[in-house]
Amino acid sequence: MEEGGKTQPMLFERDSSYVSYRAAGNQRFGPYQLDELIVYYRCPGCKKEMRPSFARFCMGFASLDEFRRAAVNLFERASRRSGCEHCGQEAKEQLLKRRSYFFHFSYFKKKDFIIEVRRTSGRIFCRYALMDDQGVIEHLTREQIAGADVYFDPGMAEFRQGYAELTFHSRLEDARVHLSRALYLHPVFPEAELELARLSLACGKPGEADEHLEQAERMGTSDLLSRLLRAEIFIAEGAFVKAQSICRDILIKYPEEADGFYLRGMAYLNEGKKNLAARDFKQAISLDSAHARSIKALHELGIELPEESVLHRLKKPHPIDDA
Ligand SMILES: [Zn+2]
Repeated sequence: MEEGGKTQPMLFERDSSYVSYRAAGNQRFGPYQLDELIVYYRCPGCKKEMRPSFARFCMGFASLDEFRRAAVNLFERASRRSGCEHCGQEAKEQLLKRRSYFFHFSYFKKKDFIIEVRRTSGRIFCRYALMDDQGVIEHLTREQIAGADVYFDPGMAEFRQGYAELTFHSRLEDARVHLSRALYLHPVFPEAELELARLSLACGKPGEADEHLEQAERMGTSDLLSRLLRAEIFIAEGAFVKAQSICRDILIKYPEEADGFYLRGMAYLNEGKKNLAARDFKQAISLDSAHARSIKALHELGIELPEESVLHRLKKPHPIDDA
């Protein structure tokens, strides 16, 4: 299937906007890309294919069987809230579910693992493929995947579950259990140390966060993530001038980093410099229109948002629904 290399035509049918989303990374949801589900329907009235539904998740799978079960389950559960956009057909329960694609980012391979689920004559069929960051698709047989189990990793599964618990559900104790297991399975796992540092901050323990951050730096971690966390720790410790200084360094090197503006804004805010803080929050939102923490901070300052619609943008992975 690989012959033809990069010019190999893609057999999976995809929405072109999806590719740019994936290639640009998923800044909305932090540094770790999430799973995405795309479901296609056909209208029973006009027989046209309808606009697909999207949903995002952060899941971890330790085996191909788990992954397949989850993909089939998501396909079965998926539904649309609105009727057909072509003919106005309202009978949502009669919409024919055609197929779904479930994309799971294989962290260690830096590729998306894709499962296509279809129902034909009442039976479920699955196909598998890999997609790299250029959008090049390589189809795999079930046997080929089974022989490459590095795509499914128990330590990575624990990590993603811990990340989701901390980031999307604020279930801090569950997050700690998963992240600790991830580190047990992969003792050199700087990302897990960084998440433990974020967890410690969420628990109001900046000293503990500092220890995890140092551990992550010893293992070798991203310069940007590590500096952003350092700034957050300074803020939690009340060292606002140090936080501002580290944010200035971040913004010299990464001038489009919304979190850098947000954190500097928080440091200003804590010193009572509301105007400077508001300017930084607005800057963060201009770089990332869904920057939830900046939107919240501006709102609390009683300042009009640059754009009303940002409040309605999604800030979390959402349940299966229309795009
Ligand atoms: Zn229709």
